[in-house]
Amino acid sequence: MKPIPSGSTIGILGGGQLGRYLVIAAQHLGYRVMVLDPDPGCPAGQVGAQLLVGAYDDPSLIQQMAEHCVVVTYEFENVPTSAIKQLVAAGIPVRPGLKALEVAQNRVQEKTWCRNLGIPTAPFYPVANHEDFLKAIEDLGCPILFKTASGGYDGKGQRLLRDLRDSDSVWADLGAGRIPLIAEGWIAFTMEVAIIVSRSVDGDVTYFPVVKNVHDQGILDLTVAPAPVTDDVRRTAEEYAGRLAEALELVGILAVEFFVDSDGKLLVNEMAPRPHNSGHYTLEATSVSQFEQQIRAVTELPLAYPTLLHPAAMVNLLGQLWANTEGALPLERALAVTGSHVYLYGKKKPRVGRKMGHITVVAESPERAVERALKARHGVDLNVAERDGLDYLGRV
Ligand code: AMP
Repeated sequence: MKPIPSGSTIGILGGGQLGRYLVIAAQHLGYRVMVLDPDPGCPAGQVGAQLLVGAYDDPSLIQQMAEHCVVVTYEFENVPTSAIKQLVAAGIPVRPGLKALEVAQNRVQEKTWCRNLGIPTAPFYPVANHEDFLKAIEDLGCPILFKTASGGYDGKGQRLLRDLRDSDSVWADLGAGRIPLIAEGWIAFTMEVAIIVSRSVDGDVTYFPVVKNVHDQGILDLTVAPAPVTDDVRRTAEEYAGRLAEALELVGILAVEFFVDSDGKLLVNEMAPRPHNSGHYTLEATSVSQFEQQIRAVTELPLAYPTLLHPAAMVNLLGQLWANTEGALPLERALAVTGSHVYLYGKKKPRVGRKMGHITVVAESPERAVERALKARHGVDLNVAERDGLDYLGRV
């Protein structure tokens, strides 16, 4: 390994919150950063990176990136592959890599890769036309989940069909027939967990702890580290994530999300070759953060061995918390909670469902961390949102 010398410039496609903490991690290691994002006010543009403003597939901006950067990475998976190909053609390595990106961009590909590698997923069918749609319903039965094969995130582009009488509206709402879909069997999971695997250019592989995730309406709401799982489940999660990282020739980090079914079996739901919302807790709770590990991998520095320093819980702060405020939350209430760390991403418009920030609480036990993280968020919630129906405390 010959690390990229400090002082060199790293390019990042995408300037959201994941990009913001990648920039900061790169700066800690002495690198300069250039970010490309269409929004001049993007979170990663506010922390000292050079910002290129424009479309991801604007050839002149990609050319500028190629001229200034020695390596390029990305912080979201819907980067146009044309941009990656242009960078690679100009001799600039793009990491984690094109293969990982192409697979993660398409849910059918993602699940097909898993299947070919002997890794379980929910039963699925690609849906290109009405015949496929009916066949999927016939084989999988209701409830059945339809998702757009690409482009969806945070539960967007998904419809659950519970009753056959609604099939026409699900078909129409998702633009089926024009847009490729995937049909997935509904998994009555007992828990959702995730793991982040990192792989170096030499093939060294390390794992972050397995965490438990709780989603609310398709959006991550809470992460608990470590997840309350057996050593067997942890080892299986590592084994599957490692197999995927190897097969994708990953250089960087990959987040893999799983369902745990009632028999304790792991099924892959999704993967993302980039830092992940469920890895924010690594900013304080592990010996290296997911962001630093990604920078280490892409610059060919040695990977760190991630260990959990303290149990932790992370809660997202979504735009609806800002309703009925004058633009600011009473953060002092969250900061008064023992072990809390509050992050705001510098986004100007707090739309419903938009990730504006997060709170991580480190504590002596995962249960205590969850309790305090919820308390911290409750404190800043002037609307005191009802969060019934989610199983936070019972099973952490
Ligand atoms: P996704 O965008 O695929 O990650 O889906 C968002 C969330 O919806 C997941 O984290 C689950 O909570 C739920 N979900 C997605 N797919 C399934 C499925 N096949 N069975 C049950 N729940 C699902």
